[in-house]
Amino acid sequence: AVLYRVDGWGAPYFTVNSNGNVSVRPYGVDTLAHQEIDLLKVVKKASDPVTSGGLGLQFPLVVRFPDVLKNRLESLQSAFNFAIASQGYDAHYQGVYPVKCNQDKFVVEDIVKFGSPFRFGLEAGSKPELLLAMSCLCNGSPDALLVCNGFKDVEYISLALVARKLHLNTVIVLEQEEELDILIEVSKKLGVRPIIGVRAKLRTKHSGHFGSTSGEKGKFGLTTTQILRVVKKLQQYEMLDCLQLLHFHIGSQIPSTSLLADGVGEAAQIYCELVRLGACMKVIDIGGGLGIDYDGSKSQDSDISVGYSLQDYASAVVEAVRLVCDRKGVRHPVICSESGRAIVSHHSILVFQAVSTSSREISSPGLFVQHLADDALSDYRNLSAAAISNDYESCLIYAEQLKQRCVDQFKEGLLGMEQLAAVDSLCELVLKAIGISDQIRTDHVNLSIFTSIPDFWGIGQLFPIIPIHRLDEKPAVRAILSDLTCDSDGKIDKFIGGESSLPLHELEGNGNVDGGAYYLGMFLGGAYEEALGGFHNLFGGPSVVRVLQSDGPHSFAVTRAVLGPSCGDVLRVMQHEPEIMFQTLKHRLEEICDDDNGISSLAILNGLACSFNNMPYLGGNNNGHCYYCT
Ligand code: PLP
Repeated sequence: AVLYRVDGWGAPYFTVNSNGNVSVRPYGVDTLAHQEIDLLKVVKKASDPVTSGGLGLQFPLVVRFPDVLKNRLESLQSAFNFAIASQGYDAHYQGVYPVKCNQDKFVVEDIVKFGSPFRFGLEAGSKPELLLAMSCLCNGSPDALLVCNGFKDVEYISLALVARKLHLNTVIVLEQEEELDILIEVSKKLGVRPIIGVRAKLRTKHSGHFGSTSGEKGKFGLTTTQILRVVKKLQQYEMLDCLQLLHFHIGSQIPSTSLLADGVGEAAQIYCELVRLGACMKVIDIGGGLGIDYDGSKSQDSDISVGYSLQDYASAVVEAVRLVCDRKGVRHPVICSESGRAIVSHHSILVFQAVSTSSREISSPGLFVQHLADDALSDYRNLSAAAISNDYESCLIYAEQLKQRCVDQFKEGLLGMEQLAAVDSLCELVLKAIGISDQIRTDHVNLSIFTSIPDFWGIGQLFPIIPIHRLDEKPAVRAILSDLTCDSDGKIDKFIGGESSLPLHELEGNGNVDGGAYYLGMFLGGAYEEALGGFHNLFGGPSVVRVLQSDGPHSFAVTRAVLGPSCGDVLRVMQHEPEIMFQTLKHRLEEICDDDNGISSLAILNGLACSFNNMPYLGGNNNGHCYYCT
């Protein structure tokens, strides 16, 4: 656990139990010792064949813990409630969840349900997101906010006004000045008086990766001049009372509370100015940005860590708004935040298997010296001498030189494949013998990084990745992870803590043989990763299980299990038609009709049907047996 920094990034939800397995505490710090779920047991339950009492799901597997979501929401609300009470702030906090972080139906529905007692709402940034937010909020608190952000056209604005007509507490936030003309026109046509927000482009700039759209030249929001024009136009149309919310978003992963307070303070000044100009202001919406400590370092100087707690965050926000409003004699606004990452990151774990390794086997170097050219022979002799005298540096130099000369000889056709393999083995053997083998194992994992960890590929974002079992055993090797895609970018060779390899255990039975499976978990990836993932090499999404704590100690119930998209499903995404493809292959088979020889046509057809229905990943849910061979 120490090696993998679990206490740093995992607290209070993840720990390592006495069996050496990752244990999940769905209720965080409120957890009694027995309210822990052994993740390996969940994984076994999900993946064991149905005949052995399992659910037969294929990897990769996302394990969702809705109770963690509930705890995150409650913790955020309590942090603001505490800050509000202790500072004598005169209004309440009510957050919204930006659905773009994870639009999964069950995630959004859970958030609406768990957040209903404290008016938690949703934020949408596009038309489909608005549709899902509208329908989900029909089951939420009537006071919950539905914040409509993002670039808008007539249809988006009409939809948001319809939401208002349906008595959803909808706020249309102007992201561009032009949206106001459409809003004025459409609201008149539909006879709906809108509640309007403006998104301000703050001068405060967040300098990390996620802050590239903040500041004066940022991509989103209205400048001071534009906000003033909006106020004037609303006044002209006698709609200034509709302007009630000020929104801004400094960027995700705000590194420190000082930057946060700076931005919130600036926004609070704008809020007070809007009050002075006659707007009927009620809400300050501070956007997202509440960060996650992915590496457990509590550092302010890194994109993957933050130097504050939930409580520090809430207190800094409340204080910054309070100070400005008190100075200006303005009533304290309702504080809204759009925290996404901080709400959903912890609730799901991506579990995948290491299926094989490609560390080079050291075979017997054999006799190859007689084929070597003179210069290679002298490298070989120098290497032997350096090894005997434990001269590490020279060993490395001569080994590299020898290998290169042999490759050159091979290219010229002067050396056979056996000799080339033998020279690799010899060098490896010598380096290993004197303890300077720098060889790092490559573990092939049953996963697509492009589909399941796209932020690692796209922006180099690091997530904690650890084995979910055998944590009471000392890891034997260091490895990098290579995925199933035919793409050189499909590898993970950077890990939290600045490491370029991960300490891992020896695979038993090459990883996928019964009883020897080696499971790895990627943690804190509940936000953005599922929504951003693509279909590179036509690998689709993972299987998913939803896990609740059940009554008995250490017990759990799987309340939902869904197999990931099949080969047919992912083919359909690219406009292929699996049914027609199957018929085409069937006709070809009928034309050939060669049943006398080997596999029968019927067996081929059955096998093809299974291939279309199975997930694209290795292993299948047929427990390792080939459909074509049965
Ligand atoms: N609100 C807006 C407008 C955003 O652009 C984002 C993300 O970039 C968020 C909320 C969510 O931010 P976070 O995930 O950092 O909480």
